[in-house]
Amino acid sequence: MSSQSDAYLDGNAAAGELNRIFAFDITAAQGQCVRCGAKRHFAEAHLYVECPGIVARCPVCGQVLLRLVNAGKRLLLDLRGMAYLALSPSEFEDSGV
Ligand SMILES: [Zn+2]
Repeated sequence: MSSQSDAYLDGNAAAGELNRIFAFDITAAQGQCVRCGAKRHFAEAHLYVECPGIVARCPVCGQVLLRLVNAGKRLLLDLRGMAYLALSPSEFEDSGV
């Protein structure tokens, strides 16, 4: 049984907010966690929304992969938890980029 603070959504729930920044579907991209080296699709991340903004954590080790905060007139994006984010060309074509 999980407590309220352990509740998270999967990374797909971040698509709406992240589409404000990225011109492609980031949930289909594959990223690597800087802490444990796990390579997963962003959609597999554990997404926490009960905070000011959104926080995506590695599903393997819990490292923060991405933070997005709406700070008034600015959106602050922190991607330090990912070594890289990789997209295949077909993902660009699907999104019309
Ligand atoms: Zn990890």
